[in-house]
Amino acid sequence: MFRIYIFLFTAAFIFSGVKAQTAREELVPVKQLIPDIAMDLKYNTTDNFTHQKLYTIDEAYLALGAVLKLKIVQDSLRKITSHNGISYPRGIGLKIYDAYRPRAVQYLMFEIFPNPIYVADPASGSVHNRGGAIDVSLIDYATGAELQMPTVFDWFGEEASHDYTNLPANVIANRLLLKTMMTQVGGFTLYTSEWWHYTYSPASGYPLLDFQMK
Ligand SMILES: [Zn+2]
Repeated sequence: MFRIYIFLFTAAFIFSGVKAQTAREELVPVKQLIPDIAMDLKYNTTDNFTHQKLYTIDEAYLALGAVLKLKIVQDSLRKITSHNGISYPRGIGLKIYDAYRPRAVQYLMFEIFPNPIYVADPASGSVHNRGGAIDVSLIDYATGAELQMPTVFDWFGEEASHDYTNLPANVIANRLLLKTMMTQVGGFTLYTSEWWHYTYSPASGYPLLDFQMK
């Protein structure tokens, strides 16, 4: 009998250990951990390249590991009160355009715009479908106004690329600030073709999800 108890105790311990290791890939609402983050979820409106409202709720989800990194970025941005000659009395903040995206939505997007440079093929899936990609910009936290970036979100052209330089100096400085904070402070990986898209590298091995946000 005693041996059975030992076995059960050990099994429970191992199980909880495994659970702790996988917690970082669990989807969590971003606002729960970063209450001061701004949201402008474009796919919850018709103001996106599909001209359709694709989400049913105005809530961004990401893998826990990605949210923890994003919080470090947000907290660091809030401490920046001056950038490129402009003062930001309440700091700078992140604004989310998109985060976790159900795989069914990926199929619909690819049907409308089957260009894998800008819309990942749902057969292999996007890191958005794994809860590890985020589309973001920067705002003046005091006014909520977006810092000027090279293009609007989901601009499918060379102007959206990090390599595009035919831009005013302040726009390049803003894009560079976002890039530096996301990659060097948050450890995210950039995507050359889209200034707004960043990925949390461990998520490339996470499962493709079709959890519907309700
Ligand atoms: Zn993206």
